[in-house]
Amino acid sequence: ASSQSASSPTETIDAVVAEIPSKMKAWVYGDYGDVNVLRLDEGVSVPGIEEDQVLVRVVAAGLNPVDFKRRQGKFRATDSPLPTVPGYDVAGVVVKVGSKVKNLKEGDEVYGDISEKPLDNPKQFGSLAEYTAVEEKLLAIKPSNLDFPLAAGLPLAIETANEGLEKAGFSSGKSILVLGGAGGVGSLVIQVAKHVYGASRIAATSSTGKLELLKSLGADLAIDYTKDNFEELPEKFDVVYDTVGQGDRAAKAVKKGGTVVVLTGAVSPPGFRFVVTSNGASLAKLTPFLENGKIKPLNDPKGPFPFSKLVDAFTHLETGRATGKVVIYPI
Ligand code: NDP
Repeated sequence: ASSQSASSPTETIDAVVAEIPSKMKAWVYGDYGDVNVLRLDEGVSVPGIEEDQVLVRVVAAGLNPVDFKRRQGKFRATDSPLPTVPGYDVAGVVVKVGSKVKNLKEGDEVYGDISEKPLDNPKQFGSLAEYTAVEEKLLAIKPSNLDFPLAAGLPLAIETANEGLEKAGFSSGKSILVLGGAGGVGSLVIQVAKHVYGASRIAATSSTGKLELLKSLGADLAIDYTKDNFEELPEKFDVVYDTVGQGDRAAKAVKKGGTVVVLTGAVSPPGFRFVVTSNGASLAKLTPFLENGKIKPLNDPKGPFPFSKLVDAFTHLETGRATGKVVIYPI
């Protein structure tokens, strides 16, 4: 690399790889609580890597509701020990590889959800830091057409969208109602149902100001939940995908023989709830639909929030009114 000009991309990557510091900036909390427990610490040790892991220089990180629910202590029985560096979603550059890493190499631009199970012993040192250690199997190569902030919003949400549709047995020619179609997960359920699974008809709910957005994402019918009760519509659906926590009502909108996917809250028959498993291979299978432009990541227009403004970003996400994904960039 020394023979190349200092401005070449290779040189830049080499420089990033060569200069791994021992300490880094990271957001940390030592007690469970509201946003005020978060503090920016400039002296956190850069995590070491296991033989199946890579070290990622974080370029952008995506926020998910599980980050704040975990910080509130809702999952303390199965949480990793405090203090915690939060963050599941990452997009960044591989700067170091473990001895048993097979496919990734230094300089690769990757994205993924760094904790295999979000609630069971999630990583103590998450993605809201300059560096994070991740198993190779949880990552995929970043779609070539997406910048880091767009890629960072995707992993947990799109893997949830896809896994829920798969578990529901969703397939070409079926209809779906998406509750919460403008949110991080819902905006991807609409698009994945349409472009990956071949949905015949898509309905989705949101408040009044987001109905046009639902249509632009691919919904045939946009239902304003401030005006209409979706379960009172004459039309019923093969699958209802509930990202809001309306499982009892969702069960009334499904066709006989259909199913209801529930991410949060109550479950009524024929519904089921599941918790996403992070998986780089399933992310890689979705990448072509991102690269051909059929699935378009949607980042909240208030962002991206710079690293120093993480508290503002969480405060926005925690209103429950985010549109698409809340992303932190630059880091
Ligand atoms: P978001 O914060 O992105 O959802 C915000 C969106 O929800 C907003 O656009 C809002 O639209 C919409 N919304 C809120 N209330 C309603 C309503 N009554 N009807 C329709 N839309 C509504 O969250 P995510 O999409 O990231 O996650 C959704 C839920 O799923 C969270 O509880 C999360 O913890 C959970 N989850 C569970 C997973 C699992 O594995 N089980 C995985 C991922 C997420 P508007 O402003 O129009 O109200």
